[in-house]
Amino acid sequence: MGSPLFNDAKLQASLRLIEATPGFADVGRHLFSMEQSGRILFEPKLEDRAQAGLLGTITLGPEAIQGSVLSLAQTLVHEYFHLRQNPFLKTVSFWSGVFTRTHPMKRFEEPAYAFALEFLDAVQRARPELIEEAQAEQRAVRQVFESTFGSALRGN
Ligand SMILES: [Zn+2]
Repeated sequence: MGSPLFNDAKLQASLRLIEATPGFADVGRHLFSMEQSGRILFEPKLEDRAQAGLLGTITLGPEAIQGSVLSLAQTLVHEYFHLRQNPFLKTVSFWSGVFTRTHPMKRFEEPAYAFALEFLDAVQRARPELIEEAQAEQRAVRQVFESTFGSALRGN
């Protein structure tokens, strides 16, 4: 199930970056309160980068915490989006994937990827020193989406 990641310096820096990014202050505050109540967890054996749980937790895997502060922030923003989605959408995404022969989770995942790209856009506007890194991160997010779901991410 993972254990709480209290006082992890990189996690703290990622949360501060989110909270300081215009348009994402509420997201940052929500994630800080999750962290303070032990609902951001670390699972060393997690194969996914991260997972949002039905019980309102975010579990991070090794890949998520080995990258940069910005990369972890992007992952947290993505998982935060999932926490706000209706779990029923997962079922809808699955069945429309079956009927249209596309990846079952594409419809569920696409808005979370798009939300992470928006965050990285906002970072570039607010933090010139992070422009190059945020652009590289955006390319990585698009590549993961394309290789997982077989089509380009819409928008931006
Ligand atoms: Zn996702």
